[in-house]
Amino acid sequence: MQQDKFVYDHILIRYGELSTKGKNRKDFIRRLHTNVKHALMMFEDIEIEKTHDRMYIHLHQTDPFAIKPYLEKVFGISSFSFALRVDSDIEAIKAAVLAFAQSQAPKTFKVVARRSYKQFPMISDEINRAVASVVLKNTEWKVNVKEPQVKIQIEVHEQDTYIMSDKYPGAGGYPVGVGGKAMVMLSGGIDSPIASYLTMKRGVAIECVHYASPPYTSAQAQEKVLELARLLAPYQGHILVHIVPFTDLQLAIYEHCDESYAITIMRRMMYRIAQRLAEKQNCLAIVNGESIGQVASQTLESMRTINDVISLPVIRPVATMDKVEIIDLARKIGTYETSILPWEDCCTIFTPKNPVTKPTIRKAEYLESRFDFEQLLDECIEKCEVVHVYPTKKKDEVTEDLF
Ligand code: ATP
Ligand code: MG
Repeated sequence: MQQDKFVYDHILIRYGELSTKGKNRKDFIRRLHTNVKHALMMFEDIEIEKTHDRMYIHLHQTDPFAIKPYLEKVFGISSFSFALRVDSDIEAIKAAVLAFAQSQAPKTFKVVARRSYKQFPMISDEINRAVASVVLKNTEWKVNVKEPQVKIQIEVHEQDTYIMSDKYPGAGGYPVGVGGKAMVMLSGGIDSPIASYLTMKRGVAIECVHYASPPYTSAQAQEKVLELARLLAPYQGHILVHIVPFTDLQLAIYEHCDESYAITIMRRMMYRIAQRLAEKQNCLAIVNGESIGQVASQTLESMRTINDVISLPVIRPVATMDKVEIIDLARKIGTYETSILPWEDCCTIFTPKNPVTKPTIRKAEYLESRFDFEQLLDECIEKCEVVHVYPTKKKDEVTEDLF
């Protein structure tokens, strides 16, 4: 229903995969309700109503097209439609559909009714025919069952009926928060923002840890990471980013360890810090953007040697994806342009000429025994700075906890 004259008064939301989740369904719906409310906070006049199989936004004159871009980022929604609500009475339904047809230039159409209230006195087919004939009689619209320009959908519930045409795809997945919380290792690259997105999509809330090595890494590099977090924030409301001062630990690694193992040891340290922060923040897993074979530190041998220092599960959402697939997704969600900004990351600055591709746990442990890294790890945690990131820059200072 794309014309100006016709006024929608609701948005009807169809639940995603959560409807298959049996007894967890209530929690899912409750969480989705909270997340939708949070995502649409700035629309003061709307009301959100949840039922066991649908959610409805009462628009109260708010423009549904203004709401659409925000709703599209809420996981747990399979699709949504702008709707007009009328009483569940065939005369009211016919009048509303006719008003809709008369409000725009004639098109080809098809009526698709669905009754969730089975006691309604007409079956779906009868509703289809009754509604189509009133449109045919009073307008120039023509029926086309196979390829209609407009599909008029009618959902009949006990009290209310919803009349809709367009159906917009939702973000899919599970509502963020139903799956607990994970700590994402967020670099300024392409992969870790995608790992973050895919994790939230499965209903897991995220916090992020970023390792910064000033003055070797710049303020711009850090701002780039916060900007990436800002681009990811709409999917869950807001994101906490833990900025870890990593310079001293990194210099100690280069002083005491063989150059070819520097990256291996550095990543073992990153994992240790991520686990400590995860435990402190009640995160049940660590997430990163490692992709098998992408670089020397991401061979299976490397992953095993690096993973060996921690016990929390490490989720690698992009582990089996090709770079082009990751880039496609980064373009789609809008993180790509920021990710390719040139600022150096701590990994790129200290890259050895010949990093080992098959590091062993034994050698890594031996090299680590040469210096007191525990104290340096403690300092990283103590001096860690927390930034609250909101979808818009202005709100960065606000502190409020959703998960
Ligand atoms: P990305 O993989 O995100 O594109 P990258 O390619 O620069 O960035 P890699 O060297 O491939 O990063 O590191 C693999 C993963 O390790 C990253 O995806 C990220 O999860 C984590 N990581 C690397 N550097 C950092 C950092 N400075 N802070 C936090 N996590 C990091
Ligand atoms: Mg990478």
